Amino acid sequence: MEKHKLVIIGSGPAAYTAAIYASRARLAPILFEGFYSLPGGQLMTTTEVENFPGFPQGIMGPEFMEMCRKQAIRFGTKILTEDVESVDLKTRPFIVEGSKTKVETDALIIATGATARKLDIEGAREGEFWQKGVTACAICDGAAPIFRDKHLYVIGGGDSACEEATFLTKFGSKVFIVHRRDELRASKILAERALKHPKIELVWNHILVKISGDKVVRSVTLKNVINNRETKKEAGGVFFAIGFDPNTKFLKGQLELLENQYIKVQPGTTKTSVEGVFAAGDVQDHVYRQAVTAAGTGCMAALDAERWLSEKGLLLEVS
Ligand SMILES: Cc1cc2nc3c(=O)[nH]c(=O)nc-3n(C[C@H](O)[C@H](O)[C@H](O)COP(=O)(O)OP(=O)(O)OC[C@H]3O[C@@H](n4cnc5c(N)ncnc54)[C@H](O)[C@@H]3O)c2cc1C
Repeated sequence: MEKHKLVIIGSGPAAYTAAIYASRARLAPILFEGFYSLPGGQLMTTTEVENFPGFPQGIMGPEFMEMCRKQAIRFGTKILTEDVESVDLKTRPFIVEGSKTKVETDALIIATGATARKLDIEGAREGEFWQKGVTACAICDGAAPIFRDKHLYVIGGGDSACEEATFLTKFGSKVFIVHRRDELRASKILAERALKHPKIELVWNHILVKISGDKVVRSVTLKNVINNRETKKEAGGVFFAIGFDPNTKFLKGQLELLENQYIKVQPGTTKTSVEGVFAAGDVQDHVYRQAVTAAGTGCMAALDAERWLSEKGLLLEVS
């Protein structure tokens, strides 16, 4: 089995930033970018990224991720196009097992991100209206021209739904929150802010059953869960705010996770409950969830890993 100083799992902005820093620091990292798990991360599912500094005209998500990948390779990161199926963090060096390759490593950075939950309904499936009016990130996509002065539908009833709806009032002519119950799950302050907002209307006891349109979204069909009656409404955008699942299933029992299954890190660092294992990006961040914050913690993880390897005298060992 090959032995390495540092292995990075993931391929979003966090993993590639960690790889750029670690390879420039001559740690010769191995990066598992995934295979079935959307290599390149969440930005592969979006069009224009307009809020990452350095791109005044914006940049397409997939193009941006390809540039990050190339930058990591340029400094010597070795990329394996495999999903990591399991890790053994109870032994030293740690063992990382991909679908084809098994390696040993002194330090590990986990940057496997999170996956936005979607509804499996007509109009929201692959190749339908995703990124043509349907998205899972209001903060990222809400300012796009297609949403201007339109009726926008936010699906959900928690904090994200309320926050995103309030944010969208800057762009849409009216924002509807569609919630399956007759009460919001959101914290009191966020719920009150949404409920009081003149541009927000709550659609209680309803679920979204269909999204229709031509090149872009034009309408939604909502179903009343009490009387099962369906109504079609004019719509210019649908925003899923039904949560994210952190990609941590393969870590079960290996390190401490929060109740919501995100990786627990020591505040202000990327250190996890296992010494020598660091976490970066959305997999440890259920609050900010942005490319630039993911990249920032990717940098932190590489620096934390390098310092840890140095403290343990592991930097001089030949890999
Ligand atoms: C539709 C949409 C639009 C967005 N637009 C913007 C925007 O405009 N601006 C912005 O700042 N943010 C945007 N975001 C948020 C941004 O995409 C995320 O915050 C960011 O991508 C998180 O980066 P990450 O590196 O933590 O992980 P991710 O981007 O989630 O990538 C992690 C990747 O790791 C890989 N992986 C997972 N598990 C494994 C495994 N077991 N083995 C190997 N590899 C694995 C997968 O390929 C996975 O995709 C958007 C998000 C969405 C959903």
